[in-house]
Amino acid sequence: MRAASPASAWPERRNCNQKEVTKTAWRGAKNQHCGRMTNEAQNKTAPAGALIIPVSPFQQNCTLLWCEATKRAVVIDPGGDVPNILAAIERAKVTVDQIWITHGHIDHVGGAAELRDALKVPIEGPHLADKYLLDNVVASGANFGMVGVRNFAPDRWLSEGEQVKVGELAFDIYHCPGHSPGSVVFFNKDMRFAIVGDVLFNGSVGRTDLPGGDHATLIRSINEKLLPLGDDIGFICGHGPGSNFGHERRTNPFLDGELS
Ligand SMILES: [Zn+2]
Ligand SMILES: [Zn+2]
Repeated sequence: MRAASPASAWPERRNCNQKEVTKTAWRGAKNQHCGRMTNEAQNKTAPAGALIIPVSPFQQNCTLLWCEATKRAVVIDPGGDVPNILAAIERAKVTVDQIWITHGHIDHVGGAAELRDALKVPIEGPHLADKYLLDNVVASGANFGMVGVRNFAPDRWLSEGEQVKVGELAFDIYHCPGHSPGSVVFFNKDMRFAIVGDVLFNGSVGRTDLPGGDHATLIRSINEKLLPLGDDIGFICGHGPGSNFGHERRTNPFLDGELS
């Protein structure tokens, strides 16, 4: 779930049949987001590939990310619409080894238990501080008419400084509370690329009015942990198009105190 954002922040994606999703995701990525990763992918030399599958009533950016060398993959934040995720995996011709979770909100985890059963792979993340959310997926889903969702525990909680791996790629874990207490960011140093969940958006930041949210903590997470990684870091976020840290540092109205 994202913050109420400035009017110009991003267009909603509404048309999400499989073909449209593929085209939109890659075009968006190539134009301005995770630039290095996808630009190189066009030349067949990228270490990674990615496909965004909008899921749940919130059109959350479930991301299929894979290592090009090994074609091993992860699904990040399967918020629902599991058949669409399975179809994307098949189309990408990759083998999923794990499910990674950025945080425990329903739009990011609604399909996690079902996908784990379907793929028989472990779930890694989020941070233990989001356990109360994973214990209440069913109740949370009922509020939004999401049926068939299940409470679950991950196979591994993630903490600051740990790493997760897919194929030959390693991602460092940054614990970034504020949007939710247990939000984590996945960062690949070599590709200069991050998956930030709902911590930071293109032109906005995560909402902090839900239980466990705290705006000052969120801004501190962004300013002290993410932005110091470098202006060139491209990112995919939980909703809308991605961006890079430099663009957000210069223009995001939530990061210079203009909006809170
Ligand atoms: Zn969300
Ligand atoms: Zn969220």
